[in-house]
Amino acid sequence: MSEAKLRHEIIATALRMNTLGINRGKSGNVSVRVDGGFLITPTGLAYESMQSEDVVAMDLDGESRGSRLPSSEWRFHRDVYAARPEVGAIVHTHSPFATTLACLGRDIPAFHYMIAVAGGKNIRCAPYATFGTQPLSDHALHALAGRKACLLANHGMIALGVALVDALALAVEVEGLAEQYWRALQIGEPNLLTDAEMDVVLAKFAKYGQPQSRGRVARGRKPEAKR
Ligand SMILES: [Zn+2]
Repeated sequence: MSEAKLRHEIIATALRMNTLGINRGKSGNVSVRVDGGFLITPTGLAYESMQSEDVVAMDLDGESRGSRLPSSEWRFHRDVYAARPEVGAIVHTHSPFATTLACLGRDIPAFHYMIAVAGGKNIRCAPYATFGTQPLSDHALHALAGRKACLLANHGMIALGVALVDALALAVEVEGLAEQYWRALQIGEPNLLTDAEMDVVLAKFAKYGQPQSRGRVARGRKPEAKR
């Protein structure tokens, strides 16, 4: 995809976060990898008034070009792209339920098998550090080890994807899981799945994630025929 198209996709993704109810105002940010660096939403600009030239291009040294300043959270975007070659896009948001749990400093445990969608047996909550700082980025990368999403204590969440559509879908999924966990906690202590049960789920997810597996479904029977 061309850089011009990716700039439009960033704005579309940011607007979509707000219509999906996982972000309010200007608190979240979105980025996508390009050759030699990444494109990221600018700081302090409402998504509704954002034009493609407002999207900021950065290299992996943290140098930016363009008329706008990058999101204050550019450091963890940069550090994820530098450390995780498989990541092509990042969504960061202060979605209500994920942020509620993050304010309690709670990991989301394996209360539901879909936790595996984030790559492991839990979704970790990174310790608190001031927004925009290197310590916050360091904590985030640690919490994201072997995962595609994490919470940030007293702050929000991060979701990673191969493309923007994947990162956004994962952010929606994580917010949904955070809501379900929060709801379950209102009436009791949720039953957690065992490590062995989660190993089974993770193995199934890994299989479904393979391109040849998707190809078989596409060429063979219809997905809805599967039980
Ligand atoms: Zn934030």
